[in-house]
Amino acid sequence: MNRPAPARSSTRQWSRVLRRGIYSLVLGAFVPIGLAAALSWGRCVEFPRRWFNWETGSWTGKQLQPNVSIEGPLGRLAMQWDSSPVLDVVSLRRVTEKEWSEWGLAQYPDVVRVPELVRADLSVRESLRGEAAFQSRWTAFADKGKLLRSRAPSWASRPPGEGELVLIETAAYGWPLRVLKNHGRVFADPADTLAITRMDTDGLGTFKNPWVAHPAWGIAWIPIWPALLASSAAYGVMWFSLFCGGALWRSRRRRKQGRCTGCGYDLAGVPDSSPHLVRCPECDLRNVRLDHTR
Ligand SMILES: [Zn+2]
Repeated sequence: MNRPAPARSSTRQWSRVLRRGIYSLVLGAFVPIGLAAALSWGRCVEFPRRWFNWETGSWTGKQLQPNVSIEGPLGRLAMQWDSSPVLDVVSLRRVTEKEWSEWGLAQYPDVVRVPELVRADLSVRESLRGEAAFQSRWTAFADKGKLLRSRAPSWASRPPGEGELVLIETAAYGWPLRVLKNHGRVFADPADTLAITRMDTDGLGTFKNPWVAHPAWGIAWIPIWPALLASSAAYGVMWFSLFCGGALWRSRRRRKQGRCTGCGYDLAGVPDSSPHLVRCPECDLRNVRLDHTR
């Protein structure tokens, strides 16, 4: 009874590992996608107030940075970036020089050049002529001496240099990385971008839009690929270790009970194939014989 182990039992083990790996990746992709979709849906319907601020349309715990103005090759963009642990909303607005001098400076208190990071400076507060609300936001930020994020994230869409489309708001959802996004677009008279003519959104579903702060409502569905792939892999590893942990626990339990670790067949009364080894008659796996299960 001392024949070599047949190839098929190790092939079966490999295919089992491979199957677990594929399940893990699929489940790993479902977790961030499902989470992001649920979060974006939560922004459209009213979640409990302690999670969601219905007045501002934002997840609570959000951190604001003062709005900044970015000077780039396509002209001046005003950026507003609201952030919470599960959601980032970046709105990029085209501002003409005339608008900049009339109201832009008050609403977007600091001017930055594209990849530069500027430290919030207390002196800027002194020069700020904006409304009290903006001023207090800026003060809270400047007192912490944080860095302004002066470059829009790569997933944020920018309005074209000219035309009626003057503002694009990109809402990106997910945890820990943002994996799904949708856009809200605001169209206006190119000569006066405050004169809004219409708005639309990529978000799925027809939800009441209490504008003006947040045009990008609806369920997010546009993937942010690099983050989605990284998240899927990370969550996949988590699933894989869960599967492997479960399998390890099951095979230990079977061994203690004197059953085959591969298929659970009861090995009591099956003769040893070599000292301390017993071959499972069901799946051919060689099991270590524990004395009490003989
Ligand atoms: Zn077996």
